[in-house]
Amino acid sequence: MTPARARIDAVLEKGAVDVVIIGAGVNGAGLFRDLCEQGVDCLIVDKADYGSGTSAAPSRLIHGGLKYLETGEFRLVAQSTLERNLLLKNAPHFVRPLLTLIPIFSWSRGVGAVLRTLLGSKTAARSRGALLIKIGLHIYDFYGAKHRVMPRHAIVSRTKALRDIPALTPAIVAVGTYYDANVSMPERLVYELIADGLAANPRSAAANYMRLRSQDAGALTFSDSQVDMLVVRPRVVVNAAGPWIDEVNANLGSVEIHREFIVAAAR
Ligand SMILES: Cc1cc2nc3c(=O)[nH]c(=O)nc-3n(C[C@H](O)[C@H](O)[C@H](O)COP(=O)(O)OP(=O)(O)OC[C@H]3O[C@@H](n4cnc5c(N)ncnc54)[C@H](O)[C@@H]3O)c2cc1C
Repeated sequence: MTPARARIDAVLEKGAVDVVIIGAGVNGAGLFRDLCEQGVDCLIVDKADYGSGTSAAPSRLIHGGLKYLETGEFRLVAQSTLERNLLLKNAPHFVRPLLTLIPIFSWSRGVGAVLRTLLGSKTAARSRGALLIKIGLHIYDFYGAKHRVMPRHAIVSRTKALRDIPALTPAIVAVGTYYDANVSMPERLVYELIADGLAANPRSAAANYMRLRSQDAGALTFSDSQVDMLVVRPRVVVNAAGPWIDEVNANLGSVEIHREFIVAAAR
């Protein structure tokens, strides 16, 4: 018997577990780690490899939500820049600063659209001039100040930009530069979140290649394509199945009876 299976059996032998998380993408694995650190006994289960769903297929950009400034979603920018900075600090072996350039084609375009946003419009400016980009990047730096590890933004002159990057079009008037982050191996990040959780709480376990099949009177049944099966009775179920959230809800079946136990974590 593998050590992983021994831990799963130890969880099952107890009869009940605090939380079962269905889906080990970045959301499920992050929650698993957080709960384990707090001493909550958890079982996380995935139908395939950990982090093999949507979490393995992003553009690999860890952004702080610059675009949300234009729609006035400042709290989201504050939250996203903080999460980005924490990932840079906590996982520097996967998450690295990413220099980003914005070619600028005018000095003042887009100011009218911003004034409309301030008056409640949700339409972003189509074209942004240097003034607007300078203000936007300044606000972005302000929100990203907490736990910051990267240089601040800059507006680079046309002459310097064309000298440093000759491939840029001569139509620019300047270039804005700022830093976001890039994650090289998101699936490994997911795996490390699970490994951290397992290390933090010896009463927790993780199982992959187990798909949720059904729920009966609070008991969840997972099975693989062979004969192996897990039956577990959790106090709380977290559906973190990402794009499969509806399928998992359907397999949970008596959603009506157990609605209070079901937390839809995927957004
Ligand atoms: C093309 C693309 C580009 C993106 N680019 C970015 C980006 O640059 N930056 C960024 O921050 N975000 C990006 N995203 C969004 C980001 O990838 C997702 O928000 C995130 O990965 C969602 O994670 P999750 O844990 O909710 O879902 P998932 O990673 O999909 O995890 C769900 C898990 O549930 C499991 N599961 C499903 N059904 C069952 C079942 N019955 N039993 C057991 N397990 C089950 C699956 O196997 C899967 O592992 C991008 C997304 C896409 C599609």
